[in-house]
Amino acid sequence: MIVNSEIWNSVKDKDRYFPLLNTSDFIKYGLLSEQLNFISITIDKLLETDFIEKIKHLSRTVLVLETNNPHGMAEQRRAIIALMETDCEVPVILKRNYKGITDDELQLHASTDIGALFLDGFGDGIWIDAPGIASEKMINGTAFGILQATRTRISKTEYISCPSCGRTLFDLQETTAKIRSRTDHLKGVKIGIMGCIVNGPGEMADADYGYVGTGPGKITFYKGKEVVERNIDENKAVDALIELIKKYGDWQEVRVVNYEV
Ligand code: SF4
Repeated sequence: MIVNSEIWNSVKDKDRYFPLLNTSDFIKYGLLSEQLNFISITIDKLLETDFIEKIKHLSRTVLVLETNNPHGMAEQRRAIIALMETDCEVPVILKRNYKGITDDELQLHASTDIGALFLDGFGDGIWIDAPGIASEKMINGTAFGILQATRTRISKTEYISCPSCGRTLFDLQETTAKIRSRTDHLKGVKIGIMGCIVNGPGEMADADYGYVGTGPGKITFYKGKEVVERNIDENKAVDALIELIKKYGDWQEVRVVNYEV
């Protein structure tokens, strides 16, 4: 658990808690924990004379880069470039604070603000602070979604689905929901669900498995770019897809974990 330095000083079990220091605490007291310390910082402090020099070789330290700038993404990019230019080795968590928006807007803003930097290979961690906007579950889901979409950390199944159009040969939304409900525990497996054979195979080119409409009520399966089964009855196709995933060794049974209280 990460707690502010005042709380950290008062807790007994110091193995389970890590202090979050503000920059003045850090300058005054230095690092507190023997294991790991987080230093909260803004670009103004970071670019103050000699600050980066003071921290750039510190071990057991992580920077938590915050911003209040309306153009926070650009500011955080600038801060990370300043760290790179001085060969700073300290990992950086990108922290963004949100208030006064809906939970849908939170997903959009966090994805663009943080995801854009991760796509460029910047940042080592995500911290989304959105008190009163969304549940912890939703915030965690958004953070893991950003990591997955930027290929930083793969933690769940990936679905590539076409937007559907006049050529779509089955109920794409319903079928995607059915496939998702049976396969969403297959960490790292990519499944393409495409409405037609005309453009589908090209649009899902990097999927591990493809589920593609080939005629009214008929589905064709791909393994990578190869067709492996043709013209399967749509009503049996989801079960058949599971069998196909099993056949190629990517299936895992759902793990049920019982926690004893
Ligand atoms: S894959 Fe086929 S059905 Fe899906 S959007 Fe493209 S053209 Fe339309």
